[in-house]
Amino acid sequence: MLKLILQHIARGITLARNNPQIIYTLFLMVVIPLAFLASGQRFLQAATANQERLEKSGVGLMQDIFADVASEKLNDPAFLTRMIESLRTNNENITEFVVTRIEGGRPLVVAALDPSLVGKIDVENESVYADFGGMMKDKSVIIQNTSESGREWKAYRGIENASSTLIGHALTVVSMRNIDMVAMRGIWNAYLFLAVIILLIFVLLARQARIIDYTVLYRKLKEIDQMKDDFLSMAAHELRTPLAVIRGYVELLQGMKNLDEKNAENLRRIDISALHLSALIGDILDVARLEQGRMKFEFVDTDVNEAVKNMLSTFTVAAQDKGLALSCEAEPVLPKISVDQTRFGQILTNLIGNAIKYTKAGNVTVKAYFEPKKKQVSIRVSDTGIGISAEDQKGLFGKFYRVKGPETEGIQGSGLGLWITYKLITEMQGTITLESIKGKGSDFIISFPAIISASGEGKSENR
Ligand code: ADP
Repeated sequence: MLKLILQHIARGITLARNNPQIIYTLFLMVVIPLAFLASGQRFLQAATANQERLEKSGVGLMQDIFADVASEKLNDPAFLTRMIESLRTNNENITEFVVTRIEGGRPLVVAALDPSLVGKIDVENESVYADFGGMMKDKSVIIQNTSESGREWKAYRGIENASSTLIGHALTVVSMRNIDMVAMRGIWNAYLFLAVIILLIFVLLARQARIIDYTVLYRKLKEIDQMKDDFLSMAAHELRTPLAVIRGYVELLQGMKNLDEKNAENLRRIDISALHLSALIGDILDVARLEQGRMKFEFVDTDVNEAVKNMLSTFTVAAQDKGLALSCEAEPVLPKISVDQTRFGQILTNLIGNAIKYTKAGNVTVKAYFEPKKKQVSIRVSDTGIGISAEDQKGLFGKFYRVKGPETEGIQGSGLGLWITYKLITEMQGTITLESIKGKGSDFIISFPAIISASGEGKSENR
C-alpha cells in the first residue's frame, strides 16, 4: 500500500517536473484563494475593531455628558425621560437606559427606557453600582457582556452633586448586534467572492489541463514530423543512385546505332520521366536542407546579365515547343551581386520554368536592371500566362501550395519550387515580390543588394 502511494507521488513529481504548468496551476489553486482569504479577514477584523472603538467612545462620551446634566435634574424624571428617548432616537443600538437616585443607600430608578422599571430598586445592577461606585464617578466604565440577543456593552457612570457626593447612577446598554451583523454580512460576501474566484480558477484549470494535453500532443507531432522529414530525405537519397543508373542506361541505349524510331521515342519518354523524378528528389532534399539549416552557400560576386543569359538559353527549346516568345531585356552594365551561383541559377530556373509552364500563349520576358536609390539589382520575370488571384497570392510561397483550378489542371508540379525559391532568396539577403492579375499574367521580381564601388558607382567590384 505504502509502496503504491510512494509510486504515485513519484509519478506526480515527474509529471510536474516535465510540465511546469502543473506547478503554476497548483499555485493558482492554493496560494491565490488563501492570500485573498487572509487579506480579507485582516481587513474585516481591522474594520470591525475600528467600528467598535468608535461606538465605544461614542457611548462613553454620551453617558459622561448625560451624567453631568442629570446631576442637576435628578429630581425631574420627566426631563430625564425625554432626554433618554431623544438619545435612543439618535442611536438605535441602545437597548436599555436606566437612571437611579440613591435612596436610603439603594439605587431607585427615576427614569428608564423601559418604563416598567421606574420607581423600583435596580436590583439587577445594584452589585455593579456598588463594585464600581468609587471609580465610575468621573468616567464611564464599559463592560462587555453576551446576552441572548448577542454581544452588548454595559456602560456605568456615577452621578455626583456639586459637592462631589455620589447621588445616583446612569447605565446604558448598547447592543453590538447590528455591528456583528454587518461584519457577518461582510464575511459572507468575502466567502462568496472567494467561491467565485475558486470557480474561475477551476475553469482556468480545466483549460490548463487541455493545454497540457496540447503540449504533449505538440511534442509528439513534432517528433512525428521530424521522423517524416528524416524518412523523406533518407528515401530521396536512396532514390538518387538507382535513378542515376536508369538515366545512364537510357543514355547508353540512345547511343545505339540500330535504334528504330519507336524505341527512340520510348527512350525519350523514360528519360523525361526520370528527369522529372530527379528534379522532385532534388527539391525534397533541398527542403530538408533548408529546414534543418544545412544548406551551404558559397557567396561569389556574380554578373547578373551573364547568369540570366546562360539560364535563358537552357529554356529556348521549351519555349519554342509551346510557341512562346522568350526574350531578355537587360541594362548593358549592371553592378554585381553577391550570391551562391548554383542557388541563384536554381532560383532563375524555377521562375523562368514556371513562367513557361503556366503560360499557354504570348511571351516570357526577363528584365534585369539596377535601382540606384535602393542600391539593388532586380530581375523581373514576366509572363502573359494564367495569372494568380489575390487570394492565391497570399499562400503562394507556402510549402506544397498549388493553385487549384481548371487553368492548372493537368499541369504537373509539387508546390515546392516557390517555397525553395523564397527560402534561397531570403538566405542570400534578397527579396521576392509578385505582381499578378488572374487571366492576364504574372511578374515575379527578385532583388539583391548591389555591390557598389567606393566611388559610389554602380559597377562591378570585387569584395
Ligand atoms: P509547382 O511545382 O506546382 O509549379 P511552385 O512552388 O513552383 O510549384 O508554384 C506553386 C504554384 O504557384 C503553382 O502550382 C502555380 O499554381 C502557381 N504559379 C507559380 N508560378 C506561376 C506563374 N508564373 N503563373 C501562374 N501561376 C504560377
